[in-house]
Amino acid sequence: MKYNENNIFAKILRKEIPCDLIYEDEFVLSFHDINPQKKIHALIIPKGKYVDLDDFSLNASSEEMVGLIKGINIVAKKLGISTEVGKGYRALTNINEDGGQEVPHLHFHLFGGEKVGKMVV
Ligand code: 5GP
Repeated sequence: MKYNENNIFAKILRKEIPCDLIYEDEFVLSFHDINPQKKIHALIIPKGKYVDLDDFSLNASSEEMVGLIKGINIVAKKLGISTEVGKGYRALTNINEDGGQEVPHLHFHLFGGEKVGKMVV
């Protein structure tokens, strides 16, 4: 799928619409989900224009890949849900229609702050 410049996360990245920011660096932006499904529900997105994890896997640079994976841990630490403080969370990404993806810019959901329950509902 071709990247759509008008998707909502592209607009957040361009600061055209606001977000409840958690963390930002050269590679990622992280903010709270507008419709949280758990006590903590954060999103983390790469700054590069990737539609989904397959697109990222095929086309992102090694630096971008490291930046995103490390970013997940940085955000979890900032939220107080990482294993370093004895907690845990679920990191999940939906891919395309069958995966339930609604926003076509790669994003990981981080669910935590409580027991998040069974993996697939
Ligand atoms: P998906 O179904 O694509 O994996 O998840 C998209 C997520 O983006 C949903 O959890 C939805 O609540 C969230 N979302 C959609 N629009 C906005 C927005 O404008 N701001 C924020 N912070 N989250 C959004």
